[in-house]
Amino acid sequence: MKNIRLIIIDMDGTLYDMADLIADGFDTAVAYMMKFYEFEKEDAIKTLNDNHIYPYVAADARSTTQFFLSRFIDIYHWDSYRSVHFGYPLIVKEKAMTEEMLKKLADIAPLVLLTNNTRINVSHVLNQIGVSEDIFTEIMCNENENKSPTKAVLMEKLMKEYDVRPEETLSIGDRFDVDAKPMIMLGGKALILKKPQYLNKFLQEIEDPRDCEEYQYYD
Ligand SMILES: [Mg+2]
Repeated sequence: MKNIRLIIIDMDGTLYDMADLIADGFDTAVAYMMKFYEFEKEDAIKTLNDNHIYPYVAADARSTTQFFLSRFIDIYHWDSYRSVHFGYPLIVKEKAMTEEMLKKLADIAPLVLLTNNTRINVSHVLNQIGVSEDIFTEIMCNENENKSPTKAVLMEKLMKEYDVRPEETLSIGDRFDVDAKPMIMLGGKALILKKPQYLNKFLQEIEDPRDCEEYQYYD
């Protein structure tokens, strides 16, 4: 861990417990498909499920936004819709990552928040869980000019910006496909946490991280 010079952390499901919001987020996606893309409810549900998007936490879950991007849905329209319909008041602060935990990461290396969510939703979430934006050296959202079907493009952009090599970069998130896979393919390290609070266990074992019930570490 001594040679980590950049830490990139995900927001949804990583800073707060995905279980708090996932059913609400799924309902928002279904409603959106019905309202603007003429889906019947059952078809919308089935299409999402077939693409690994569920109303519950699952190991193979993928990003709704990345799925919409792949289907050429007007992603800026979706971003504005989900910003208005984001159920952040459902987030339970007691289950979320604390500023103290994040500070421990920020003490290791510059800490960048990289999310597929929108900037306005980032403010809502951080406010809800009581984490100051200042803890992050930068907040990068996958929206507007950054729009990309995978985080890999933005991860590479950040490595260049911070002048670090992939092997000096750690990505922390809750989904293998979204947060770990692109970083591993770039040659970096990744940590997948099953719950926000499990970061504590990783921090305790940071000199010798090993796969366990709470997290997976990819070196
Ligand atoms: Mg996530």
